[in-house]
Amino acid sequence: MVRALLLIAMCVSSACIVGFAVSGDSVSERARKLHFSSIVVDTHDDTTQRFLDGKFDLGVRSLTGSIDIPRMKEGGLGAIFFSIWIASKITGSEAVDRALVQIDAVREQVRKHPNDLVLATTAAEVREARKQGKIAALMGVEGGHMINSDLGVLRSYAALGVRYMTLTHSGNDEWADSSTDKTVHNGLTDFGKDVVHEMNRLGVIVDISHVSDKTFYDALEVSKAPLFASHSSCRAICDAPRNMTDQMMKDLAAKGGVVQINYHVGFLSQEFREAEKADPEINKAISAEVMKRCGDNQGCQLIEGDRITREYVEQGKLPRVEFVKIIEHIDHAVKVAGVDHVGLGSDFDGANMPYGMEDATKLPKITEALLQKGYSEGDVKKILGENTLRVMMEVQGVSRELNSASKK
Ligand SMILES: [Zn+2]
Repeated sequence: MVRALLLIAMCVSSACIVGFAVSGDSVSERARKLHFSSIVVDTHDDTTQRFLDGKFDLGVRSLTGSIDIPRMKEGGLGAIFFSIWIASKITGSEAVDRALVQIDAVREQVRKHPNDLVLATTAAEVREARKQGKIAALMGVEGGHMINSDLGVLRSYAALGVRYMTLTHSGNDEWADSSTDKTVHNGLTDFGKDVVHEMNRLGVIVDISHVSDKTFYDALEVSKAPLFASHSSCRAICDAPRNMTDQMMKDLAAKGGVVQINYHVGFLSQEFREAEKADPEINKAISAEVMKRCGDNQGCQLIEGDRITREYVEQGKLPRVEFVKIIEHIDHAVKVAGVDHVGLGSDFDGANMPYGMEDATKLPKITEALLQKGYSEGDVKKILGENTLRVMMEVQGVSRELNSASKK
């Protein structure tokens, strides 16, 4: 990463020691103890894209991106939801085929690293993984277009271990509106409501990140189980349409749900968002450079996109966003929705990370910052993972009830 190169450059000069001393990464013993005794759950990581070209080994510490087994261990990440993602424009049976390839790729990573990873589908399995000293690997499908309007496909994904589905990605699907597309369905269609019901029965969490406000309210109304926003931040701080308003967070919480805060700088910082909007040529230039370096390799595109954005920040063309912005969003969400309804959904390996949160090794800094803000140890544990585990248990409970009711 650009920052690592800078530090190396500093080390050939006498400023080396000073450079490390002011890195701001210090974590107190108390925070470290609390962090590593907590189950830290991240509900959204795009690392799956890196598995697809067969070159990336999750077991080896990588110089690029944010996630691999050594860095997850170093940062105390206990459970990770690997995202199954393809762009909204890919639909039909191709979308299903490509989703299945990604589900297989995640399962293969788990099979290849049996000492470090275990596939988990329930909160109990996440806790069991922790007891065995392993990281729990989970899966979420990011975009309802990947079921090709077929509940049988949804059931197959669930059988393979998928435990949440984001109702849309950045474009509408056949039965739900996205927050970043034109309104076509006015929220969820009747079939979309059937999808939510079937997700409830299967114990697949309804994820409302990316969806339009109306889709959110429709899903909230018809879902019998709590929902979550696997990777969304606060619209009151950064006015991105796929962030949540205060009212939405309150309503999500009233039904037992959780908003997992996204670390992407364009969702954290209004200043960054405005700078991007003010000069659309910057994003065009970044996209062109990404295509030049990566072609259609999605994993490469996501990693290089973050790296090139950093270069623009270093050149002063985009504002620098610090990791404390994540804490600001967590704190705002806690004030609005309550401490039982906030979690972590990094978007690592799929977005542009703020300074100080480059990869999973930096996660203990969140614990440190929350303690410094006066949060109790119990509340920090909730935010780090217990709230998400609670939603998983409740969703599973609703699934059990619905299945036993349908047998009568
Ligand atoms: Zn996303």
